[in-house]
Amino acid sequence: MPKLHIVPAHRYLVRFHPKRISHVFTDILIVGSGIAGLRAALEIKPPMQVIVVSKDVLSQSNSAYAQGGIAGALDPVDDFTSHAADTIAAGKGLCDEHIVELVVREAPDRIQELIEWGAVFDTENGELALTQEGGHSHRRVAHALGDATGKEVMRALIASARRLPNADFWEQTFIIDLLTHEGRCRGAVVWNRGHGKTIIWAKETILATGGAGQIFRETTNPSIATADGHAVAFRAGAVLRDMEFMQFHPTVLYIAGSSRHLISEAVRGEGAYLRDCSGHRFMEDYSPRFELAPRDEVSHAIAVQMEKTRHPCVYLDLSHLDAKLVRDRFPHIGKVCADFGLDITRDLIPVRPGAHYMIGGAVVDAEGRTTIPGLWAAGEVTSSGLHGANRLASNSLLEGLVFGRSSGRGAAQSAASFQDTYSALALSSDWQHGPHDDDELNLLDLRNSLGSEMWRDVGIRRDRAGLESAERQVDFWNRYVAAREFADPRGWELQNMLLVSRLMIAGALARRESRGTHFRRDFPQSDPAQAEHMEICAAE
Ligand SMILES: Cc1cc2nc3c(=O)[nH]c(=O)nc-3n(C[C@H](O)[C@H](O)[C@H](O)COP(=O)(O)OP(=O)(O)OC[C@H]3O[C@@H](n4cnc5c(N)ncnc54)[C@H](O)[C@@H]3O)c2cc1C
Repeated sequence: MPKLHIVPAHRYLVRFHPKRISHVFTDILIVGSGIAGLRAALEIKPPMQVIVVSKDVLSQSNSAYAQGGIAGALDPVDDFTSHAADTIAAGKGLCDEHIVELVVREAPDRIQELIEWGAVFDTENGELALTQEGGHSHRRVAHALGDATGKEVMRALIASARRLPNADFWEQTFIIDLLTHEGRCRGAVVWNRGHGKTIIWAKETILATGGAGQIFRETTNPSIATADGHAVAFRAGAVLRDMEFMQFHPTVLYIAGSSRHLISEAVRGEGAYLRDCSGHRFMEDYSPRFELAPRDEVSHAIAVQMEKTRHPCVYLDLSHLDAKLVRDRFPHIGKVCADFGLDITRDLIPVRPGAHYMIGGAVVDAEGRTTIPGLWAAGEVTSSGLHGANRLASNSLLEGLVFGRSSGRGAAQSAASFQDTYSALALSSDWQHGPHDDDELNLLDLRNSLGSEMWRDVGIRRDRAGLESAERQVDFWNRYVAAREFADPRGWELQNMLLVSRLMIAGALARRESRGTHFRRDFPQSDPAQAEHMEICAAE
């Protein structure tokens, strides 16, 4: 398995000394309050104490924006083997078949458990209503509130987690770095406006910080998705993997002035067509599965069609579908479009691809252990082997549930073997004074420039010249940004995004083939000799 090495500028983003910082002790620290983090919290029983840290309010996460739903073989005519086969086919040779089987087999139980915790899924004649999405060969996606599944599932999970007697929730608290000592993770240094920097010493730590979409100019991800978890894991010495695989969602609303709102795959699942600016239903030129081809194929086809037609977007057409069905199934999308004067039952919806799901991340085993003892991880920040080179739609909420549960359970069992000590370790961070005056830097300008650079050269269609140009540019920015010590999340997020961009570029340059979400114009075919993961970690 190829292994890349990169040297981070500093082990810790800030300086701290144990005599000049507050200390808090817990059994288990969970970083992230999305589906993975809260599912982990729900697995930890008293007397074990848990702190859940979340950089925004609990309800802000990628999970809360999920639309389509959660995949599981729930229909009697469907089965695990078929769900596993679809997942493996989408993953283009890089799925771990053992992990795929483990996850798909758990799906019905994890969905049932959500129902018991109060999540209300859509039903039809008293049974769970199931929809089909690209790459699935059956209707197997359970959804809620029509097209706002994440909102409903997170409502139920947050309400259940809030009732836990052994959990404290630190909202608007940012993880700056994981703490490591003698090869083991010991907790984290975090920051919030009220207390400044604090060290949380934990017997076990679970990282569930989600994705990295904000690195790209066009993205479906909310503002929290700035790759912080990938960066803190990397600086702490964890092995990351497959960082070149960013999934681009094919259909993101493209209206000047609107947020880049996702138009769920379920819209195509219900029969919507993709048309170019001349009205041509172009997917027939690219795949026998038409609009229901896997995401990488549809995104790629759209990018090529936009180039061919020299038009900045393509269009979703639902006008041939039953108008009542469209309104009932997609109330949320209907409302967003109506705000811009579009009636989704009649008008063409302008869309184009956007960065959506980070496939690469911290390597975890079947229970969620990373390569650092004492550090577990779950959800989008990981590379578990489920998605391979391309995630199958609606498998990621499922992954968060399965690995949230196993990492919560594993961390609790492991923490039980440690005595309480309530003493801080002699761990500090210091380096020579670098530039300190962060006022000199226009962080927003840098962030926008990074997004444009990554979209242009590390987006859907890549080649060596573009990737090398992105590498030079990111290295140049990194030279002066990474050397600074910032005082709040705006600076730390930028430092994390620059670092993770560098990891993505390194992976994309090293993979000299096209596979799944990673398309190289200069190597347009898959190469069987490269059908393996690409690991990356900090150089010693
Ligand atoms: C618009 C949209 C629609 C989607 N639709 C679907 C779908 O229908 N089905 C599906 O399976 N998947 C879908 N996905 C993908 C899915 O939502 C995510 O992959 C999944 O929710 C990730 O869950 P998570 O718990 O790993 O991370 P998240 O839900 O993103 O949670 C991350 C948490 O970490 C916290 N955090 C991040 N950085 C820090 C930091 N520095 N310090 C402290 N806390 C931090 C955040 O505040 C947040 O609480 C969709 C994604 C988007 C964006």
